[in-house]
Amino acid sequence: MPTYEYVCQECGHQLTVEQKMSDARLRDCPACGKPGLERQLSAGGFALKGSGWYVTDFKGGSKASKAEEPATAPCAGGACACH
Ligand SMILES: [Zn+2]
Repeated sequence: MPTYEYVCQECGHQLTVEQKMSDARLRDCPACGKPGLERQLSAGGFALKGSGWYVTDFKGGSKASKAEEPATAPCAGGACACH
């Protein structure tokens, strides 16, 4: 379920709500009771408007291990009929 960030334009209260895409947006602020909530774009990896911080999300990393494939056995002299 996607998570939405709401910020109240009236009092600045922030909250995070899990909602389905089809759910109606919240409007009433639980802190001040006014219909001042504005939904932010998404959670994670974005700059919150007006608050001056941002999250940088690094995922994964470098894999240093290199798998060496076994060399194909060269033609073994005596038992091979190809020469
Ligand atoms: Zn509020």
